[in-house]
Amino acid sequence: MDFKDIVGQEKVIHFLKGSITNKRIAHAYIFEGAKGVGKAEMAMVFAKAVQCKNYDGDVCDQCASCLKVNTNNHPDIKIIEPEGKSIKNKQIEDFQQDLLRRPYESDKKIYIIKDANSMTDSAQNRLLKTLEEPPEYAVIILISTNVNSFLPTIKSRCQILKFYPIGEKTIEDILKNKYDLQTDEAKVLAAFSDGILGKALRLKESEEFRNKREETIQVMEKLLKKDPLVAFELVEFFQKNKDNIYEILDFMLFWFRDILLLSQTSTDKFLINIDKKEILQKHMHAIGYNKIGNIINTIEKTKNDIKANINFQLVIEMMLLTIQEV
Ligand SMILES: [Zn+2]
Repeated sequence: MDFKDIVGQEKVIHFLKGSITNKRIAHAYIFEGAKGVGKAEMAMVFAKAVQCKNYDGDVCDQCASCLKVNTNNHPDIKIIEPEGKSIKNKQIEDFQQDLLRRPYESDKKIYIIKDANSMTDSAQNRLLKTLEEPPEYAVIILISTNVNSFLPTIKSRCQILKFYPIGEKTIEDILKNKYDLQTDEAKVLAAFSDGILGKALRLKESEEFRNKREETIQVMEKLLKKDPLVAFELVEFFQKNKDNIYEILDFMLFWFRDILLLSQTSTDKFLINIDKKEILQKHMHAIGYNKIGNIINTIEKTKNDIKANINFQLVIEMMLLTIQEV
């Protein structure tokens, strides 16, 4: 992997490349961004680039150093990961011992600390000592979903680089071109990815995601039959999926938005659930154009009510009855 394999994050790439070219590599970085947005991959490519013997705007992928990185075998690049749920004081202690030894075969010794926001307070305090007086060859990259989980004294000693979602269209293209998915499947996954490639790839492998989507479509099918007794039975489905409730509600939102779109335009180009077009059309006829907006508002309100901790069962019952009534 090299810089040109990374999609998006142009600002971060530009900054990191510049720091290598200008020989202004910082002692410590925080890579911050959502899970799956590519922070750890970037850290690895940056480490590879710093160590590359022929670096020329990107890694050469041929020198002894690059080959060692490719087989996870570079003695001067180390990865620290949580043991159990957190990174413990002892792990940072071991890291500090290791850091005392100079690099084996390069000018820099690079440590990538994954899930760095899982460091215990005592681990953070210990790390701080290193950040205050790092050896000149040390490069430490903290990977984190939330920069505010670090002590201010740690933050102030790190170069903070933020990673952003790359957008659904880009993800759809990557899924099609790089992972050979059909347009229909790529569209669905991209829509649920929040613009995060890692999430799209996770969903791609997730049987559970596919099953939940099918189940939710069946629930909507039953709901639109307008039997009020059914509405109460369906509450159970939402109770059972309480932990994934936002995902379920998003399935529903995207579903009814598709119906709205279908009723307004003759093209299906923008449908998310394009693989279910026939069911969408059937539902569109069952609901009637002027009521779809109401349903969408109701689902959005339900999301907000759940966020505001209003009684779960009550909120769901209200939503189901409202959808049935419209
Ligand atoms: Zn190289």
